[in-house]
Amino acid sequence: MLTHSTRVDTYIGLGSNLAHPHRQFAAALRSLAALPDTSLVSVSSMYRTRPWGVLKRQPMYLNAVARLSTLLPPKTLLTALHGIERAQGRKRRYRFAPRTLDLDILLYGEMRLNRTYLTLPHPRLPLRAFALIPLLEIAPDTLPCRRRYEKALQTLGAARHEVRQIPSPAGNPLVQEKISNPLRSSQLS
Ligand code: ADP
Ligand code: MG
Repeated sequence: MLTHSTRVDTYIGLGSNLAHPHRQFAAALRSLAALPDTSLVSVSSMYRTRPWGVLKRQPMYLNAVARLSTLLPPKTLLTALHGIERAQGRKRRYRFAPRTLDLDILLYGEMRLNRTYLTLPHPRLPLRAFALIPLLEIAPDTLPCRRRYEKALQTLGAARHEVRQIPSPAGNPLVQEKISNPLRSSQLS
């Protein structure tokens, strides 16, 4: 597999509103952690969010963001993410259809790209509180575009309140699990 010679920090948006979203996320995080030449650095809290951009009624979403450090080039990474989505039963029926799992590349280092198959940063990131909030939760203060995304979130106003952090007194089990052992998920489903 083609790889870069230097590691890149990339942020992946996770979304699910079908077939037990928590279980979908546990499986997806295991797969992300197992990607070649890639490590899972951190995972945000889980957020319960209102469906975005849809007219028909849909179940509420679970959203989160994972930070990876990878040697994979962005197109290879996207292909791998599509493979994980497919393995978890993702069907593309229509735009913004309910889904078992959506994995989007929000940021890939500071790369800018404008292709149909891959746009970086993700073109709808500044419009989506459900992606901005978990991203800003885990991104370091040194993230180059941090201020821009903080401002974008402020301008979203009320939409911010449609993104609810799921409280977890013992800390986020997905975060603890992936740090201690990315292959163990029994307590999550
Ligand atoms: P959405 O994530 O907007 O709900 P899809 O997951 O069906 O929709 O993605 C539609 C297409 O968007 C994908 O086939 C992919 O090639 C393209 N795409 C462009 N930029 C990105 C990105 N940054 N992350 C993920 N997919 C992207
Ligand atoms: Mg997607």
